[in-house]
Amino acid sequence: MLWRMTSLTILTGQSRGLGHALATQCLQAGHQVIGIARHRSEDLDTFATAQGATLQQWEHDLSEPEPAAWALLEWLQAQPLDRFTQVTLINNAGALAPPQSLADSEPADTRRVLRVGLEAAMLLTGLFLRGTRDWSAARKVLSISSGLGRRAMAGSASYCAAKAGLDHFTRAVALEEANQPNGARLVSLAPGVVDTDMQVQLRGADPAAFPDQNRFESLWQNGQLSSPDATARQLLSWLDRPNFGQNPIGDVREG
Ligand code: NAP
Repeated sequence: MLWRMTSLTILTGQSRGLGHALATQCLQAGHQVIGIARHRSEDLDTFATAQGATLQQWEHDLSEPEPAAWALLEWLQAQPLDRFTQVTLINNAGALAPPQSLADSEPADTRRVLRVGLEAAMLLTGLFLRGTRDWSAARKVLSISSGLGRRAMAGSASYCAAKAGLDHFTRAVALEEANQPNGARLVSLAPGVVDTDMQVQLRGADPAAFPDQNRFESLWQNGQLSSPDATARQLLSWLDRPNFGQNPIGDVREG
């Protein structure tokens, strides 16, 4: 019998931006894809149908992430243990609060950024690892971090904290998985500056409240943003590296 690679990719934030490009390229590569976001993308559904690929889009608000994480566990536990040869979780969804000092930020915005950007990633990762523990598939978790998890910026404390948290929880879980039979490999990877709605929000901010507004405006004016497609290619090729996970922290700009 011919051996065939069967890949499952679960990713958050597939409805637009970088996540949409990642989902499109995974479908193109023949992966089965489960996307989790508040909205579904109709054109992804159309694309999957045209490709003959399997796509499910689950509508969850990841600022209340527990139901999505339990739904994922339930789905994973219903699959035969040897159904896939490769299974990947991509924690891509992220959110920004209106850029301004923490003192001026609304507590509800601070909480949403932390929950979508960090709590959801941790809950999904935990139950993903539990649900695939006995699978024969190669198991990987890629979390989309940011340079701002490693370098502080005024006006975005909650976002900086969520991304620093992503990096450090990835380091800790990588240690846990290193001791497991068929342990998962995990990386928290910064994608560079990408031309999505998130950048529109940063350069559209009030410069009086957000000292870096000018920098984001000039990155855009000078054509220094990467396209979501090109960035998705870089991220997916990182996932395909034979030594993926050897270093749990990375940045696509550093190769
Ligand atoms: P984006 O265009 O704003 O898209 C964000 C995605 O996250 C959307 O699909 C959105 O889906 C989902 N999302 C947001 N809030 C959510 C919620 N409450 N519940 C469920 N899903 C939610 O952002 P992007 O630029 O593609 O960012 C993707 C990732 O890259 C993020 O983690 C971001 O921090 C990171 N990143 C981006 C840049 C950049 O320059 N763009 C730089 C560094 C890191 P719904 O609205 O449908 O819910």
